[in-house]
Amino acid sequence: MKVTEHIERANGKTLFSFEIVPPQKGANIQELYNNIDPLMEFDPPFIDVTTSREEYVYIEKEGLLDRKIVRMRPGTVGICASIKHKFNVDTIPHVLCGGFTKEETEYMLVDCHYLGIENVMALRGDAMKHQRYFEPTKGGHAYADQLVKQIKDVTRGKYLHDVVETNNNPDFCIGVAGYPEKHLEAPSLDYDLKKLQEKVNAGADYVVTQMFFDNSKFFEFVEKAREIGINVPIIPGIKPIAVKRHLQLLPQVFKIDIPEELIRAVEQCKNNKEVRQVGIEWGIQQSRELKEAGVPVLHYYSMGKSNNIKAIASEVF
Ligand code: FAD
Repeated sequence: MKVTEHIERANGKTLFSFEIVPPQKGANIQELYNNIDPLMEFDPPFIDVTTSREEYVYIEKEGLLDRKIVRMRPGTVGICASIKHKFNVDTIPHVLCGGFTKEETEYMLVDCHYLGIENVMALRGDAMKHQRYFEPTKGGHAYADQLVKQIKDVTRGKYLHDVVETNNNPDFCIGVAGYPEKHLEAPSLDYDLKKLQEKVNAGADYVVTQMFFDNSKFFEFVEKAREIGINVPIIPGIKPIAVKRHLQLLPQVFKIDIPEELIRAVEQCKNNKEVRQVGIEWGIQQSRELKEAGVPVLHYYSMGKSNNIKAIASEVF
């Protein structure tokens, strides 16, 4: 079922969902199942599976370092299919501009259709680690709105090199990313919101936000989005702080602010076990307030660990 249908059916009740990251290649899918299993009691209608773009790695060959481009965590669509069938839950593969040609994207969408996947999350992707700025892949898209348009075209039977007249076109529900504290490259929040509006105008059906730790930033973002006519559901993304390093890492990577109160609480912790507990308590407080405000879904970034999400969900759902 589509995300928008799940939201409609819930009739105002806040739903629980989460995102997982594919394991490094070669890992056993059982590990992934073991992480998902404890969260199924909260009845997620859908689970997101991220896509990792390719990176340069250095491989020693005859005493010399050879640079190769590889994807370290492939398998997004396969994982989506296996989770969908094992847990009887909708799964949402993330589709990226970066690292994929339009043809590769088209093949991925065709696979999704055959596998009964009805939702996709359309994202630009970040720059590769060695790049300062995002550089579009040759034959790929430069921005997420172009990717949304390609997905929308496929739903109308308009493929890159064919028009297929059939009554069995995929009818994808499309999610896109939103940034309550603006995307790191955007010159202002208003500019970024206009770009979000372009993604919605291109055919996006719902928005999932970047993590944030101060709910007032989310509420202001939603208000501004509504003011400029973005009327699709906006789903907040929640990430519990788990280690002291997150105080530097999360602002550095995502350009988000951490509230003073949370910084003080984390700094007072003697070890990461205590930090984890602080993260859980903050996550509970944030989630309860968002739920009371009537958000359609609380979407958690699990980053491969389900224990802290379970601790939060047990108190909130
Ligand atoms: P866009 O919407 O294309 O925006 C990128 C930047 O360009 C913004 O600053 C925007 O203001 C600007 N912009 C947009 N359109 C235009 C235009 N036409 N002209 C000029 N400027 C424009 N990354 C992954 O690699 N894999 C994942 O699975 C993944 N999942 C994510 C899930 C969520 C919920 C979120 C919030 C992010 C995720 N990301 C993922 C990270 C995402 O790929 C990065 O944040 C990326 O830098 C931007 O992606 P976007 O889709 O928001 O890009």
